[in-house]
Amino acid sequence: MPKNELLEITAAGIYCRPGDFYIDPWQAVDRAVITHAHADHARPDCRHYLAASDGEGILRLRLGNDIRLQSVGYGEKVALNGVSVSLHPAGHVLGSAQVRIEHKGEVWVVSGDYKIESDTTCAAFEQLKCDTFVTESTFGLPVFKWRPQTDVFADINGWWRSNQAAEKTSVLFAYSLGKAQRVIAGLDATLGPIFTHGAVENVNKCYLQAGISLPETRHVASVEKKNAFVGGMVVVPPSADTPAYTKRFTNVSKAFTSGWMQIRGMRRRRSVDRGFVLSDHSDWSGLIKTIMASEAENIWVTHGYTAEVVQYLQEQGLNARQVDTRFSSGIDRTEA
Ligand SMILES: [Zn+2]
Ligand SMILES: [Zn+2]
Repeated sequence: MPKNELLEITAAGIYCRPGDFYIDPWQAVDRAVITHAHADHARPDCRHYLAASDGEGILRLRLGNDIRLQSVGYGEKVALNGVSVSLHPAGHVLGSAQVRIEHKGEVWVVSGDYKIESDTTCAAFEQLKCDTFVTESTFGLPVFKWRPQTDVFADINGWWRSNQAAEKTSVLFAYSLGKAQRVIAGLDATLGPIFTHGAVENVNKCYLQAGISLPETRHVASVEKKNAFVGGMVVVPPSADTPAYTKRFTNVSKAFTSGWMQIRGMRRRRSVDRGFVLSDHSDWSGLIKTIMASEAENIWVTHGYTAEVVQYLQEQGLNARQVDTRFSSGIDRTEA
């Protein structure tokens, strides 16, 4: 790797040598700049964290209240050993950020996870321009193409309505940080009560404290009468799909929300009645559009279908390369 590169991949993660900090490190380090609070990006035990202030509550919920955290507003510039660092909305979950690094006239942007379709539960994605763009590629295959989320929410509410007519309980699996809140915000709360698993309820509180409006929800554990759930909507994380947990609901219809529902067979493997294609990541065209609009001379591709995206970009004449991070092979099947 040429010496003048602003970022390099080390055993602990993406490292900025001139600034002496890591971005989403996968080992405990002195100084970590965090793109967002998902577990594969925010790990515990770092000595010092820098993150967007919108996500402070969730980060402390996940990593502990006592972490040493400097939270900054979007666009605010911080100097780390002479390197200018600023965080910009990634549109992924509340507080998610792209990291922009500027040093000696050179600009690099690390996208973290991002989605370009805006939703009401987090700040909208900001398109940046840079010399080198580090992009994720979770859904980096042309087969991944999202329908407008308003259509997907209409489907979810329609499913809820038909379950009600059949006196069923709707149980919707959604990743507890981000997806669950986005789904809840899209529910038609006039249809009936919305119940949540404790993991979802805890994150909801952080969203409400950050000023995001969500319909009223009730923690499942606070409900005593079993038949209170009939006709209601219960939002739970995928990990709660166990007989021990779901036995409290009678006459259940189950659905799963994820970008992976686009793939035939994923719904069957999850053994749910419905699969709703809803992701907090960009689809194929969102990724390509963002990469092109960055006007970057160099593109580093991480975290997903790296080889496929690199090949496509090279065919377009771009200087793209695959960057192996801890996440490259392990495509995230839960939060996406
Ligand atoms: Zn994420
Ligand atoms: Zn991720």
